Amino acid sequence: MPTNPNQLVELKVAGRYRMLPVWATKLSFEVRPGLKFDTRAWKLWKPCLLLLEEIVKKEKLKVSWVRIHSHFGLKGDIPHAMGWWDHEQKAMFLCHFDKETLLHEVGHALTSGYHGDPWAKATARLYKKYLNGKAYSASMIQLAHYLSGRRVYKALFNERPPKAPEILSIWKGLKP
Ligand SMILES: [Zn+2]
Ligand SMILES: [Zn+2]
Repeated sequence: MPTNPNQLVELKVAGRYRMLPVWATKLSFEVRPGLKFDTRAWKLWKPCLLLLEEIVKKEKLKVSWVRIHSHFGLKGDIPHAMGWWDHEQKAMFLCHFDKETLLHEVGHALTSGYHGDPWAKATARLYKKYLNGKAYSASMIQLAHYLSGRRVYKALFNERPPKAPEILSIWKGLKP
């Protein structure tokens, strides 16, 4: 193994040979880049996946594998969600590489019942624990976009949440 953690190495992932940086091969879960994954996107995914590794340990979470995307130079809209969690496979799908999306999915992994109250409570706790300042405030406003999240927001802050801004794809117009 090369000593530079960012160096790409060829590895068989889910039956195909792919190029992964050394750091991504040392995680407790398998990282599966999408078929058209641009290797220049690894640097964007690094903070997100390292945080997931930290969370897996701290929250005693079982994650088998994580599928990640890249969509550099995106013009239109993406016909899939920013992220989702598969309870049966213990697998996470992430399109957005931001921490808020990751924590939203970890909230699903720790609970059940889609966007119900247990999910909203768990996700609010994760936002508080793993986000700071503006990122935390923005994430709580997005959480209040869900009815369950609105209840948590009102209980925490004793006020009605402001309207959540519409989320555009993180990849829109993004250059490598
Ligand atoms: Zn995607
Ligand atoms: Zn969700």
